[in-house]
Order: sequence, then structure tokens, then C-alpha cells
Amino acid sequence: MSTDLTPPTARSDAERGEPKPKVKAATVWLDGCSGCHMSFLDIDERLIELAQHIDMVYSPLVDPKQFPDHVDVALVEGAVSSEEDLEKIKRIRKHTSILIAFGDCAVTANVPSMRNSFSVKDVYQRGYFETATRRAGVPDQVVPKLLPQARPIHEYVPVDVFLQGCPPPADVIYGLLTDLLAGRKPNLTEHTRFGR
Ligand code: SF4
Repeated sequence: MSTDLTPPTARSDAERGEPKPKVKAATVWLDGCSGCHMSFLDIDERLIELAQHIDMVYSPLVDPKQFPDHVDVALVEGAVSSEEDLEKIKRIRKHTSILIAFGDCAVTANVPSMRNSFSVKDVYQRGYFETATRRAGVPDQVVPKLLPQARPIHEYVPVDVFLQGCPPPADVIYGLLTDLLAGRKPNLTEHTRFGR
């Protein structure tokens, strides 16, 4: 799958000397701790530079609540753990050109997979009964139902780029995005690894 983020329309615009349209980007938070998003924010002042080339069209960091019909690049943090996560990742894949598994929970299921050796019934029992301080009971509204296990994203949908790290360092996230914006194929193996 191509990792060139330059939309075809942008190429013809550039040939006509017109300004290049911005890349539509999204970040998504499935079953993760938000640490990968914190690392994204640690890009600091370079976010201003990125904002000249990228429109953030969907993210926990911006207002829109519905994943758009077309996104050029999506960074997806977290494992697929609930029915809602599964629904979301299918929609994201369908409407995204380059899907990045963002961090170790997305790549391997990492921390969320610690529940995998227990049944969902036992997890509910522990979380909603044994440790409840008031109103013990499994919520049947708002909280999405858990899948039998927390699994990595690529087990459900094809992934274009695997960005390891817990969390991936800000410099590596920045390097990846600038590589994609420049149409370069990223080489992440030298810069990050599981658990780094
Ligand atoms: S990879 Fe690490 S930092 Fe990112 S969501 Fe998982 S536990 Fe949190």
C-alpha cells in the first residue's frame, strides 16, 4: 500500500502552481491509556509547523464526533477491546488511506491484553462487583460491551504502518509524519521498538 500522502488533486494543483491542499489527519483513541496522544502533544512547537500542512479533522483533541468520509492518515492508539472499538476500526479502515497502528497497545494489544487470560465474566465480576464501592452491577447503557479478548488492530483490519513504543517518542512521531508528508517511505526500525 502506498505511503504517499500527497492527494492526486494536490499534484495537479501543484502543476498549475496552486497551493497544495492540506492533508486530512485523524488520531483515534481505542483501548489505550492516552499516553500515545500525550507523546503526540510532546511534539510541542513543531505542531505549529505540522499544522501548516495538516488539517486535524477527527481526534480526541478536536471537536468533530463523527469519523469523516475521507481521511488521508489516521494514527490509532489502543487495542480493539470492545464492540464499539471494533465498529470504529472498521469505519476508520474504510475511510482512511494510511492507517497507522500508533503505539504498542495498537501493535500488540500490550497492556489491555493483560485481561486476556480471564473470562469477560471474571473481568466484570472484579471490576463491577468485587471492587465496587457503591451500586455494584454491570452497566447496560453507555459503557460498550467487552469483546472476549483485547486484540491488536491488524487482527481485524489491514494496517499500513506499525509505530511501536510505549509510547512512541515524540521525535519519532514527528519524523514519521514529516516522512509521509514528503512522500518518503518511513524506516521506523532504527528509531523505536516495543516497550521503548
Ligand atoms: S502503548 Fe503505552 S502509552 Fe500508548 S496507550 Fe498503550 S500503554 Fe498507553
